[in-house]
Amino acid sequence: MTEGYKYKRVLLKLSGEALAGDLGYGIDPKVVDDLAEQIGQIVNDGVQLAVVIGGGNIFRGMAGSAEGMDRSQADYIGMLATVMNALALQDAFERHGIFSRVQSAITMQEVSEPYIRRRALRHLEKGRVVILAAGTGNPYFTTDTTAALRACELDVDCLMKATKVDGVYDSDPKSNPDATRFDTITYMEVLAQGLNVMDATATSLCMDNDMEMIVFDLTRKGNIARALKGEPVGTVVSA
Ligand code: UDP
Repeated sequence: MTEGYKYKRVLLKLSGEALAGDLGYGIDPKVVDDLAEQIGQIVNDGVQLAVVIGGGNIFRGMAGSAEGMDRSQADYIGMLATVMNALALQDAFERHGIFSRVQSAITMQEVSEPYIRRRALRHLEKGRVVILAAGTGNPYFTTDTTAALRACELDVDCLMKATKVDGVYDSDPKSNPDATRFDTITYMEVLAQGLNVMDATATSLCMDNDMEMIVFDLTRKGNIARALKGEPVGTVVSA
């Protein structure tokens, strides 16, 4: 079924921002619907998919602590924000006939399963999308680090980092029209050049565990499938 696909089991990292769309805050139902449509296509083709969802469209711990909140407390609020996004995603998946399970790193048994690695693997094998919520369950981390960690744990072929630009550039393409895009780059180069791809914890986790990552533009419809088929839609980052 997965003929034509280069990657058969993948982890997709979606930032909270990706759900906000042009609203810039909260959850835009149309964006979530479009996403579910794209994801439905690859899941129907037999690709096993886990999703790590961020929470920045609702709350970021760093922003809270900058306003004087205790950092850990603010981070827990951030983690709870990711659970809201996870439930919104699951709702859209269901409406598109995609079977899914939410697994949360902070136990919330009324709305989600707890994160249990072996159970997550079983869901993937059965063709269910596993939506991983509440980050790592620990303050001082990000959902990028969660994505790197779960990608390694779930033994995926590739970590797909969805963004609003079509890959990794040597400077910000929004402010510098001469910025050049890398087709491929190593984690070491990302760290050495201080490129804004993921935080250093996530980057070094991927580097140390030889986890390939594709940074691609989610806003172009069909790009998830194209990236999974190995088409050059973004930057491939490797160890
Ligand atoms: N967070 C955390 N531990 C984790 C993952 C996330 O404390 O393992 C908190 C942190 O406050 C973060 C917020 O959850 O700011 C939302 O996650 P993130 O900023 O990574 O979301 P994104 O930028 O991807 O939308």
